[in-house]
Amino acid sequence: MSDLTCQEFVELVTDYFEGELDAETTARFDEHRALCPGCETYLLQMKETVSRLGEIPVESLSEEMQSTLLSAFRDVRR
Ligand SMILES: [Zn+2]
Repeated sequence: MSDLTCQEFVELVTDYFEGELDAETTARFDEHRALCPGCETYLLQMKETVSRLGEIPVESLSEEMQSTLLSAFRDVRR
C-alpha cells in the first residue's frame, strides 16, 4: 500500500463523492487527508460545492476549478 500523491488525491475526489472507491483506496484517501491539510481543505471545499450545486461539477478536476475553490477558501478565512 503506497501513499497517494496530491495529484492522485485530486483525481480520486470525484469517485469518492460517488462512493466508487474500494475499501483499500478509501483507506489511502483518508490517510492522505490526515497528513495533507491542503487536500483536506480541497475536499471540504468540494463537498460544499457539491452540496450547493446538488451535483459534482463536471469540471471539478480542472485547474480553474481548483483555483476558484482556493480563492473561495481565502475569502472565507478573511
Ligand atoms: Zn495532498
